[in-house]
Amino acid sequence: MASDDAVVVAEKLAKDYLAGAVQVHALRSVSLELARGEMIAIMGPSGSGKTTLLNLLGCVDRPTRGRYWLEGEDVSRLHDNVLSRIRNEKIGFVFQVFNLLPRLSAVDNVRLPLLYRHRAIPRDAPAQALARVGLADRAHHRPTQLSGGQQQRVAIARAVVMDPTILLADEPTGNLDSRSGEEIMLLFQQLNAEGMTILLVTHDPDVAQHASRIVLMRDGRITSDLPVAERLDARQVLAAMPAPEPEAGALPEGEVA
Ligand code: ADP
Ligand code: MG
Repeated sequence: MASDDAVVVAEKLAKDYLAGAVQVHALRSVSLELARGEMIAIMGPSGSGKTTLLNLLGCVDRPTRGRYWLEGEDVSRLHDNVLSRIRNEKIGFVFQVFNLLPRLSAVDNVRLPLLYRHRAIPRDAPAQALARVGLADRAHHRPTQLSGGQQQRVAIARAVVMDPTILLADEPTGNLDSRSGEEIMLLFQQLNAEGMTILLVTHDPDVAQHASRIVLMRDGRITSDLPVAERLDARQVLAAMPAPEPEAGALPEGEVA
């Protein structure tokens, strides 16, 4: 049914929630296919089902109806323990809030997913992941010693340290100023150019324009699914921006919060 290169094949996915006595149809029959190496932006008004879809594709939750194949494996009916193992192995998550542990250094935050690993991961994978997001020199800083953009980059390093099949991001630039947000988009585009499949949710049309394809949702359905004709290049956008201001929240070198 799906091409060999399909990472995600979702067929008529639906999710109902019970809110008190009322059934909420958060998702109504969503079919979606993602090929390896795509970068997809999902847009849509608040409440349209974006996060619900992300949670289903990220194996956080199971659909009420419909089927979902991740790299050809039907994961729509699996038990919790199997599902969490697949989630740990194959999914990287990035959120609007960075969710870093404040008492751990950057590199120890990145190391966290390795505690639950089920396969061999190189010892230096956390340091490598930090280098990949341009923070090799901040490995032993704590989150409070980093700017918001740097914290989000640590969160991205944590999300890719297991070399996931797909990176899922829910409003990853939502808490960032435009320059820091653009730097995050540059990072996503670099990871994508290296072959990482990425799906991100955003309400910002400019952010979405960095993707290779934009999916619009409304009332739990996909209403449009189109390739991006003129994809924004984050490197060029950054070059055209005014010079950066000193990073708010970042402490001078050597100071401890
Ligand atoms: P979006 O991310 O696009 O804002 P969501 O996927 O979070 O939308 O929500 C879609 C709909 O499902 C909304 O009406 C929301 O209130 C409802 N919903 C989401 N999660 C739950 C839940 N755990 N229990 C009840 N209703 C929920
Ligand atoms: Mg949401």
